[in-house]
Amino acid sequence: MATSFIKKTLGLETTEPAVTPPPVSSTNTSFVKKPKLQSKSRKKEIPEGLWTKCPKCGTMVFDKELDENLKVCTHCSYHFPIGARERIHSLVETCTFEEMDADMTSIDVLNFTGAASYISKLEKYQKSTGLKDAVVTGIGKINEHRVALGIMDFSFLGGSMGSVVGEKLTRLIEKATEKNLPLIIISTSGGARMYEGMFSLMQMAKTCGALAYHAEARLPYISVLTDPTMAGVMASYASVGDLILAEPGAMIGFAGPRVIKDTTQAELPPGFQTAEFLLEHGLIDSIVPRNEMKQRLTDYITFLMANRKTAEVTE
Ligand SMILES: [Zn+2]
Repeated sequence: MATSFIKKTLGLETTEPAVTPPPVSSTNTSFVKKPKLQSKSRKKEIPEGLWTKCPKCGTMVFDKELDENLKVCTHCSYHFPIGARERIHSLVETCTFEEMDADMTSIDVLNFTGAASYISKLEKYQKSTGLKDAVVTGIGKINEHRVALGIMDFSFLGGSMGSVVGEKLTRLIEKATEKNLPLIIISTSGGARMYEGMFSLMQMAKTCGALAYHAEARLPYISVLTDPTMAGVMASYASVGDLILAEPGAMIGFAGPRVIKDTTQAELPPGFQTAEFLLEHGLIDSIVPRNEMKQRLTDYITFLMANRKTAEVTE
């Protein structure tokens, strides 16, 4: 791991002399420099950090425009990945979000050592994302509704579910049940966290157990699937919502297509792990574009919570 770090630094350093070559005694130096710079200067015409190339339609989108459009391509509506904090800003009323268990961090129960130790991975992602783990949970207001909100972040170890993700979500669900709040979990994950072995798999049962009590209290749970939601997360809390919504084009499934093909020896229909296919086949209730998400969640909660009150009165 340390060597890859060194390599990166060296790689960057080697570009420097190409930009400012050492002075040569010849009077033609400035003309000699130019051809070397051509390929680099072409790149420099587009200043970094101002434009992003859309992976779907190839258009260069102005970053400011992309941010204002909640990271959705203004040309083809491709939904770029979005971090947990950005998503909270896009949904929750300003200054209403009270985060829960913000400092909860994983420990290396198994003393896992692969190419890199689990602890060093955790430290690396904590630094790069500013998060302690792959989910942010808390209570906040979406328009007029107080909701319990759990938002996963794929940039932290592929949004993998270890004991911290499971525990934070379970505490959130229990808090929602205790306070009579509707629950929203926005998922994005590659699945269970292999560094924690069995402990990560146990989170599937734990979160679903807490959800059962939440359902028993007749409180609504809306699960929102974003690109990608796979494996252990999809096989537990993400797929048991009263309402299951998805962002357009999200990849959703359990195992990867190659594994399924090898296991079943069957031809798989094209696009069978997309939100659109799963809507057609009944797993998903609705596909909601990101810029409509806040209003749609508000409408669903209004309906479901009003329904709950009516049910209480008639009992
Ligand atoms: Zn696009």
